[in-house]
Amino acid sequence: MSAALLFDAHDHLHDARLLPWRGDFITELPALGVRRAVVNGTREADWPEVAALASQTPWVLPSFGLHPWYVKDRTAAWRETLLRFLDAHPGAGIGEIGLDRWIEGHDPAVQAECFRAQLAIAAERNLPATIHCIRAWGALWDIVREEAVPERGFLLHAYGGPAEMVAGFLARGARFSFPPYFLHDRKSAQREIFRALPSDRILVETDAPDLAPPEGQNPHPLAGEDGRVLNHPANLVLGYDALAQIRGVTRDELATLVERNFARLFLGEEDRRPSSISGD
Ligand SMILES: [Zn+2]
Repeated sequence: MSAALLFDAHDHLHDARLLPWRGDFITELPALGVRRAVVNGTREADWPEVAALASQTPWVLPSFGLHPWYVKDRTAAWRETLLRFLDAHPGAGIGEIGLDRWIEGHDPAVQAECFRAQLAIAAERNLPATIHCIRAWGALWDIVREEAVPERGFLLHAYGGPAEMVAGFLARGARFSFPPYFLHDRKSAQREIFRALPSDRILVETDAPDLAPPEGQNPHPLAGEDGRVLNHPANLVLGYDALAQIRGVTRDELATLVERNFARLFLGEEDRRPSSISGD
């Protein structure tokens, strides 16, 4: 087993679906090399869970945000509550935020309003913002192009957008995190994008308990209480191995890059080298 330190740029370890195993994860993941994990809240109701997990687990980096699936559940005081969580957790990120036109019954105007409001907080405080986007890439680009973004950059998690849009997002400071979910055959275009991304903009994620890898390639199969497949957070190792293979580097070489990229985005540890646009 490699001694490389691993960083999960995006997951939901606080999610109730993972509760039966949460205690196991908290001991198992560091033993696998997991050094930090960004745990993303998605709505006011789960922010206290994220905060509690982070206070009990030093390697959990909390992130608080209103996910586009849950904007309809927000209270009138959601923004003030968000600011209170951010004030109480210095170093926390903003996420998971974004746009989604795939989910049934979505309201694009309300999603955009909540996304803009949260991106503005991230930009003003220079906090790492984690962005979700499904079937709304044009609308997302319009906002990311027009609005202030955090100086330290932002994360497009599990980037499923077109290759043609990558250069624009890079120019605005985007980082891109690779989930083992992209090992599905139908995700070859996404694997190709990650092969070509500049090495200072790549991260690895699980999105656990969501985005499980294909059945035949899943070393940690996990079935939820309803029988549905859950993504085990230990699949981070699979994500590193897969992305290393895609990029033609060793896992240790990839881990060295990702550690630096993670620190720059999420820990604010500035690397003064200019950002590359076209790779090494
Ligand atoms: Zn997520």
